Amino acid sequence: MTAFEPPLARLSEGLEESIICEMSRLAEARQALNLAEGLPDYMPADWVLKAYQQVLSQGVALHQTTNTWGHHSIREAVSAYYRRFYGLNYSADSEITITCGASEALLLSLKAMLNFGDEIILFEPFYEPYHDLVKSLDLTPVFYALEAPDFKIDEDTLRRLISPKTKAILVNNPNNPTGRVLTTEELQAIATVAQESNLWCLSDEVYDQLLYDGRRFTPLASLSGMRERTITLGSCSKLLSATGWRVGWVVAVPRMTNALRSLHDICTAGTNPLFQLAAANALNQMTPEHLDALRAMYHRKRDLAFELLGAMGLSDEEAKRYLPEGAYYIWLDLEKAFGIDNDTAWVMQIIESAGVSFVPGLCFMRGKQTSFVRICFAKQASTLREAIERLKLASLLV
Ligand code: PMP
Repeated sequence: MTAFEPPLARLSEGLEESIICEMSRLAEARQALNLAEGLPDYMPADWVLKAYQQVLSQGVALHQTTNTWGHHSIREAVSAYYRRFYGLNYSADSEITITCGASEALLLSLKAMLNFGDEIILFEPFYEPYHDLVKSLDLTPVFYALEAPDFKIDEDTLRRLISPKTKAILVNNPNNPTGRVLTTEELQAIATVAQESNLWCLSDEVYDQLLYDGRRFTPLASLSGMRERTITLGSCSKLLSATGWRVGWVVAVPRMTNALRSLHDICTAGTNPLFQLAAANALNQMTPEHLDALRAMYHRKRDLAFELLGAMGLSDEEAKRYLPEGAYYIWLDLEKAFGIDNDTAWVMQIIESAGVSFVPGLCFMRGKQTSFVRICFAKQASTLREAIERLKLASLLV
C-alpha cells in the first residue's frame, strides 16, 4: 500500500477468502469433480419445480419488492412448517423473517445479539463462515474443541467456557462438517448452560430434514425454557435442494425479530419475490412422503460416499465410522485413515492426481494445518461414480 491509498477497515483487513469457494474455483479451473462445495449439481425434486412453475404467472408480485419481512405467504408457510413438523407455534406476523438464505440470517442474528467484545461460544469444527463473521463484527469467539471421533458436547466442559462476557452459544445441528446430530442429552446440556447464564442460542438448523437411519430431529427451541432465548435458522437451500433461490429464514421472539427485521431492511430490503413465492408454494405442498423421498435420495448418495471411501483405500469397517448421522458431508480423518497430517497438501495432490476436489479441514478449525478433509456428497450419482473411478485409478498409479 502506498501512502496515498486509503486503508481498509481494520476488521476487513483480517478477512480471508473462503477456502470452500476457493476449492470450488480450483475444481473449475482444473476441470476436477467438485466434491468441495455444499452445492448440489442436480435439480430440485419435481414437486418443487412444479411449485415454482405454478407461481410464474403472478405478474407484478414477482417483479417488485415484497414486504421486507418476507411476503406474508412464505412467512405463513414457515410458521405452518414449524407447527406441522415440530409442534412449535411461531407468529408469521411477529416472529418470522425471510432472508437471503441462512447466510444473511447468521449475520443479522450476530449483530442483533451481541455487542463489540462480547464472547460467543463456537463449537470446533465449525461451519467456515462462523469464525469470519464473528471476527468481522469484533466479537470474541470462545472455542469448544470437540474431540474426534465422537465430537460429543459435555455439559461441564461447556459450562467452564462461560465467563461474564459470554452472551451467546452458536449451535449447528445437524452439523457441517462433522455430520453429527446432537442427542437429547447434548441439547439439554446446551439448554441448561444457556439458561443458567442467561445466554442467547443461535441454532443453525438448515439440515433439519437431512437425517439418516431413521433419526428424528429435535429443534433446540422445543426444549423447555428455550423458545425465548433461541434464534432458529432454516433454509430452502437444503430443504428444497435449491441453494440458488436464496430463501432462508430466521425465527425468534418478537423483540429479537424487530431488531432482525430492521437490520434486514437496511442491508438487503428483502430477498427476491419470485423465489419467496415459489418457496411458499412448495412448503405448503410439502408432505412427509416428500421428505421421506429426500432422505431416501441422500441415503443413496451416502452409500456412494461409502464406496468412495473404499476407493480411497479404507476398509468397510473404517469407512462405516465416517458415515454422517445428518447433513451431506464426510469428515475424514487423514491421520487415522492414511497417517497423513497435512490437509492442504493432500487435497492439492488429489486434485492433481485424481481430478477430484475436497475441502481441507483447516477452514473449519483454527490453525494453519489439520489432518481433516470435508467431502461433500450432495452430487448426482453419476458425479459420485465418476469420482469413485477416478480415485481408484489414481490409487493404482501411486
Ligand atoms: N449454515 C450451514 C451449516 C450451512 O452448511 C450453510 C450452507 N452451506 C448455510 C448455513 C447457508 O445456507 P444458505 O444457502 O441458506 O445461505
